[in-house]
Amino acid sequence: MKNITVLGSTGSIGVSTLDVVQRHPDKFNVLALTANTAVDRLFEQCVTHQPEYAAMVDEQAAKKLADLLKEKQINTQVLSGIEGLETLASLDVVDDVMAAIVGAAGLLPTLAAAKSGKRVLLANKESLVMSGAILMDACRENNAELLPIDSEHNAIFQCMPNGYVTGQNANGVRRILLTASGGPFREMPVADMASVTPEQAVAHPNWEMGKKISVDSATMMNKGLEVIEACWLFDVSPDDIEVIIHPQSVIHSMVDYDDGSVLAQMGNPDMRTPIANALSWPERIESGVAPLDLFEVAQLNFEKADFNRYPCLKLAFDAMHEGGTATTILNAANEVAVQGFLDRRAGFTQIADINARVLDEISASEADSLETILHADKLARTAANRYLSD
Ligand code: NAD
Ligand code: MG
Repeated sequence: MKNITVLGSTGSIGVSTLDVVQRHPDKFNVLALTANTAVDRLFEQCVTHQPEYAAMVDEQAAKKLADLLKEKQINTQVLSGIEGLETLASLDVVDDVMAAIVGAAGLLPTLAAAKSGKRVLLANKESLVMSGAILMDACRENNAELLPIDSEHNAIFQCMPNGYVTGQNANGVRRILLTASGGPFREMPVADMASVTPEQAVAHPNWEMGKKISVDSATMMNKGLEVIEACWLFDVSPDDIEVIIHPQSVIHSMVDYDDGSVLAQMGNPDMRTPIANALSWPERIESGVAPLDLFEVAQLNFEKADFNRYPCLKLAFDAMHEGGTATTILNAANEVAVQGFLDRRAGFTQIADINARVLDEISASEADSLETILHADKLARTAANRYLSD
């Protein structure tokens, strides 16, 4: 029986994780659940899964959760603050930590899991984009096994040679072919994209996800973040990664080997597949995902990604080439710009403009300590905020 902590249990990945876990009560015990402010949702999850611990970042929310649990006579101990999350990611009894917080907020708890040698199931790509070297070193130094949850990276991981461990450069790999759906505006005239609304942007054609990653998918910043994520996870340069638009989202990514073999992982677009894969790796368990019907899919199409339509994708390649805190700065600017867009304080195409300006304004330095990273993150947020309207 494995004890699991789910960081960000109330989100899209968190809910899918609990769905898979619930199918295997003989294999997994939900030890701890965490969320930011969603008291009612976390309370319901505590009633269903009866974890030993729960934590909420927000103090008031934590107090409200504790009161509700007491009333219902449920014995879940409630912690609060980011320290509460770090504690639950590193408890001795925890085996696996699902890192499914969205954004930079995920870094410290994910790092805490890595430092305490847990198996880290990484959905929070932003922590690698912000602080790839530090997180990968923490995993290496503490024997923390890092398994990718992002569907593309999980696919690549599955296509790697037997015994492959993340962070290593695999023998015989020529290129990584990273697939992308192209998002909801793949065919929209570029000139019309300035007037896209938040409602249009969060309606993804193939995947149901949280708001931030949905907007990132529409700008293809998500694919840019994934290029950076892949560089760290698989120890490759951005030049070894090709982004391929594949609108059906059936091939989740591919590995192109020196001998001409191209291995792909396919399946229906449902995050329960990579989640189940990582939870049980190297074994396979039932995930609840319907079998792939290739006759229904009928066609698999591939297109080149156009930097003119998706300037955020180019910014990510540029930032990874620049190195150091450039990717930290890009990530922070993007979080502010996306939130600004969702709050109607910036237009859709301004997201890329803001990201480009902030990358330009703030000079990157070596990403040699957590302090440097957090400082760069803060500077970039301040700079990006200046471009939002009131
Ligand atoms: P979501 O918005 O649905 O959920 C986010 C979770 O994080 C919630 O539980 C929320 O309470 C918690 N959270 C938010 N802000 C927080 C903060 N400041 N401190 C602590 N906790 C906080 O997001 P999601 O779609 O589940 O995505 C989670 C992560 O997984 C993201 O990094 C995303 O890029 C990645 N991911 C998601 C999908 C997907 O299909 N949803 C696919 C691949 C990767
Ligand atoms: Mg992905």
